[in-house]
Amino acid sequence: MSKVLIIGAGGVGTVAVHKCAQAPDVFSEICLASRTKSKCDAIAAALPRPIRTEQVDADNVPELVSLIKSFQPDLVVNLALPYQDLHIMDACLETGVDYLDTANYEPPDEARFCYQWQWEYHERFKERGIMALLGSGFDPGVTNVFTAHAAKNHFDEIHTLDIIDCNAGDHGQPFATNFNPEINIREVTAKGRYWENDDWVETDPLSVSEVYDFPEGLGPRKIYLMYHEELESLVKHIPTIRRARFWMTFSDNYLKHLEVLQNVGMTSIDPVLYEDKEIAPLQFLKAVLPDPASLGPLTTGRTCIGCLIKGVKDGRELTYYIYNICDHEQAYAETGAQAVSYTTGVPAMIGAMMMVTSAWRGEGVFNMEQFDPKPFMEQLNQRGLPWTEVFPTDSTL
Ligand code: NDP
Repeated sequence: MSKVLIIGAGGVGTVAVHKCAQAPDVFSEICLASRTKSKCDAIAAALPRPIRTEQVDADNVPELVSLIKSFQPDLVVNLALPYQDLHIMDACLETGVDYLDTANYEPPDEARFCYQWQWEYHERFKERGIMALLGSGFDPGVTNVFTAHAAKNHFDEIHTLDIIDCNAGDHGQPFATNFNPEINIREVTAKGRYWENDDWVETDPLSVSEVYDFPEGLGPRKIYLMYHEELESLVKHIPTIRRARFWMTFSDNYLKHLEVLQNVGMTSIDPVLYEDKEIAPLQFLKAVLPDPASLGPLTTGRTCIGCLIKGVKDGRELTYYIYNICDHEQAYAETGAQAVSYTTGVPAMIGAMMMVTSAWRGEGVFNMEQFDPKPFMEQLNQRGLPWTEVFPTDSTL
């Protein structure tokens, strides 16, 4: 029995609240708070049991502190945007409450993300006797747990890791992003980066690509090398990894639109003066693009996210691939949100479950791979994200 405060009423928040509401034995009381209270109320109205809803500005630490003091949760689940991470962590420190998120901190005025800002909270969380679990979504999140599971059960040493994220869904719109457009476009237009021989190698945005043959009928698709935050924590915590890369599929149509938007300056976060008002082009673009939540009922097809891992076991070389396939329409039918939100909201709920049941416990700031993967892997199978593992002989990457 526990009380959980969930902040952020977007696609991921919608799924996490649904999944927590489905587990009343674990989450006896739920409060959903966000910038726009009417969005919380709309989500609450679709649930099988009552929850509390509140308005909160998660950039305002005193406001957060007073909400936490009034609801007295055991855990705060941050499903707002990466910009809010440090403010919510500050409020957790002040009130002595555990913290969980799904994306690492990004400063709003600088398109750069890394764990350093949040890792620097470790000593303060430890002294306060509380725990922060970082990146409990799918990637980061499940991909970290998959890698920890492989390291524990199948390898003596992992040498290469390729995390491969495929969205084979179709929403029928000329151009739209499946989650927050501002965060998504900042990530996609950033330089690529991968880990090789104890160093980071930088690549131009979307300049490195391969074709990967996805399982279960999804077939061969073009994947692009990008930087993703879990690489940073995984190479730190699993030091045998010699090369770690992250890949994502994009349709030619998505890339064509993105190139044009970039060329005309619409993806920039540097403010421009328009009719005596400063606006960041990317924030304006977000305002004119389809709301990702509106894509839910339109999206068909499946996602496939997994880890292709190579290394040695008992002196022999081994290749291993573990993945989940998630169906957009099934995700929408269950929670009112498509698979990109579903694959993030379910692991957020499972991470919360690990914390409030003390299956995962620690004092300080932690990444997912630092805990025993077993109970999390079991819950993935039970809560809607089943996984499959294979030992391919003809892997391409
Ligand atoms: P959305 O944009 O759909 O939702 C974000 C929500 O946060 C909105 O309801 C928004 O309010 C609210 N919010 C924003 N700023 C504030 C604030 N200052 N105070 C209170 N509430 C605020 O995003 P998603 O649901 O798609 O994503 C949520 C998080 O999940 C993001 O951090 C994203 O990066 C992460 N993510 C992680 C993935 C993973 O696999 N690890 C994959 C996909 C996403 P309003 O509605 O009023 O704008």
